[in-house]
Amino acid sequence: SATEAGLYSATDQIISLNAESVETVLVNSTAAIVAEFYASWCGHCVAFSPVYKSLARDIKEWKPAVDLAAVDCAATETRQLCFDYGIKGYPTLKFFHAYSKEGSKGLSLKGFPRDVRGLRHRIIDQLEKHQEPWPPACPPLEPISQAEIDSFFETNNVQHLALIFEDDKSYIGREVTLDLLQFENIAVRRVLSTEEGLVTKLGVTDFPSCYLYYPSGNFTRLQPPSSPSLYRGEVFNFLHENNAIAFLASPAKQAPARHDDRWPPSSLNWSQVNAPLPPQANLFLPAMPDTSGDHWMNDSASTSVHSHQPCSNIQARTFYSYALQRLPGVVRSGKPPPPDTVESLTNRTDEPWRPFNRSRVYMADLESTLDYSLRVELAAHSVFSGHALVSLKKYISVLVKARLALCAVWQQMPPSWDPRHMEPVVSQYFPGRPMVMNLLKSLNSWLQDQPGDEISYEALEKIIDNRAQSPNTTLPQGARWVGCQGSQPHFRGYPCGVWTLFHVLSVQAKKAEGTDAKEVLSTMRGYVHHFFGCRQCAEHFEEMAQKGLSEVNTLSAAVLWLWKRHNLVNNRLAGALSEDPNFPKIQWPSPEMCPSCHSVMENGEHRWNQDQVLSFLLSYYSSQRILTDYLE
Ligand code: FAD
Repeated sequence: SATEAGLYSATDQIISLNAESVETVLVNSTAAIVAEFYASWCGHCVAFSPVYKSLARDIKEWKPAVDLAAVDCAATETRQLCFDYGIKGYPTLKFFHAYSKEGSKGLSLKGFPRDVRGLRHRIIDQLEKHQEPWPPACPPLEPISQAEIDSFFETNNVQHLALIFEDDKSYIGREVTLDLLQFENIAVRRVLSTEEGLVTKLGVTDFPSCYLYYPSGNFTRLQPPSSPSLYRGEVFNFLHENNAIAFLASPAKQAPARHDDRWPPSSLNWSQVNAPLPPQANLFLPAMPDTSGDHWMNDSASTSVHSHQPCSNIQARTFYSYALQRLPGVVRSGKPPPPDTVESLTNRTDEPWRPFNRSRVYMADLESTLDYSLRVELAAHSVFSGHALVSLKKYISVLVKARLALCAVWQQMPPSWDPRHMEPVVSQYFPGRPMVMNLLKSLNSWLQDQPGDEISYEALEKIIDNRAQSPNTTLPQGARWVGCQGSQPHFRGYPCGVWTLFHVLSVQAKKAEGTDAKEVLSTMRGYVHHFFGCRQCAEHFEEMAQKGLSEVNTLSAAVLWLWKRHNLVNNRLAGALSEDPNFPKIQWPSPEMCPSCHSVMENGEHRWNQDQVLSFLLSYYSSQRILTDYLE
């Protein structure tokens, strides 16, 4: 697309708009969209682009409610588009309401601020003025009153209500509300300092400050960090839940030696670290080492990058969001609430075409793949034994695998570390929704516990279906292809999903610093060999695996191996009858998607720049970029 070649790239979390995608993104979107119209030759645009990129990182949790897009008006193919949107100067920022109609030109954000904080506030102002229909994933932003709080737990089924006390001009409450919108079991509301009854009842003296309020009327204040103890507790909870063997995330030079470098440390006992956090307890922001390794980062250091902004505000938002996202019972939902209004607004047919972004991965495809794999493909085998049983067990165990990637986190930390930019500490191979992970985990423990050397599909199916009766432990039934949709029913779908699934797994294994370089590839080989319904495909794949798999010795090599073999298959299938004319088989990624992945040798021959391909793949298939649209 034009934007990839312009100021932004695939890793920036900014949707590229071009003549083709503009309608699908701006029209009828469930989220409001802020779009930047720029020209890549314009100096002001170049100067603004790092700010826009930081904004995208800063508000990435807000995506289901408001997302960012950009279009390079300097590209030939977008000239007409920019003209149609009435763009006269660059950069122009426009706000498009959720469910904007075709032909809507959006609202120009005149004189928009050139800093992240100002832009964030401007976006909130705009959201607050949003008319009906309100973006379904956007929580209420207005202050809550005493009366509303009194009846809150009668109408809201959440465990935690976080109240942010602040004065009228402060944006922290609304920012934290939006930061938490993708999390279940918690609601965040702002309370104005003028709400005297509540202020007196809770004895609030500081503005801003954050309180957790419980149905019983109990409340507790969220205190700023003073020790990393919750962090250690979290790590242990994780190890315990996943039956994981701790690996030594040796801080070595990256971090100071601490008395608890040994994992697990001898000084903490299980009951201590596994006890759920009592609501009255103080919550601690984990102390993280700075990259110099000289000292543990303190508050002033963590905000020094923002020194031109009021530090206390930055800290408050960061700390509140971080701590609230980690409360017991609070989980990332990964799904914007299904809006009732969409049906009537988009006039869907039975099997609607689901508009999607061609340069993104969708969780709906991954879940559909698992559904088909577990409920249809495996069902073709009445019993599993021998190598097939081994392959099945390995497949499920890789899907539930997760590791602590502390080293990776430390090494990737920018010099100006800030908790908002932190990678998750726990890296899952399959980054599924909690309910899906629960099902896979229970399937895995059941499988590992089976003593015999034979398992019937009937028994396996019982586990899948029985456990699936709980809403917290379930894999949605039926296919719902998005990025893998074909222009006709016989195109794409499942095989596309299988490729996507294993690309994601290989990338996630790399991020989690798995210990066996071939783990994901040999799992895929086993699955495809024993179960993949397309038998010819399986034979071809086995041939490739026999030839080159033994040379894969690093996790990066594994990611690239799969990419290369997939391209070989694409090459073989280009122009075949099975090719969807709307999705031609190309050597992937195209130069539009990743310009730096390609170079031309002196003799004019094409050449892949493999380092660039690797970093492209690591970003493209990373868990953070997977879109959760169209999930049930
Ligand atoms: P797919 O090839 O399924 O790709 C899915 C998505 O992955 C693409 O949309 C793109 O976003 C991304 N992608 C494309 N190339 C790469 C790459 N190199 N690296 C990373 N990501 C990429 N069909 C046959 O007719 N004969 C075969 O022998 C055959 N062998 C197969 C072997 C395996 C293991 C699998 C999983 C499938 C095989 N298929 C075969 C099916 C075929 O490869 C396609 O999956 C199917 O035709 C659907 O194509 P698609 O357009 O959805 O893109």
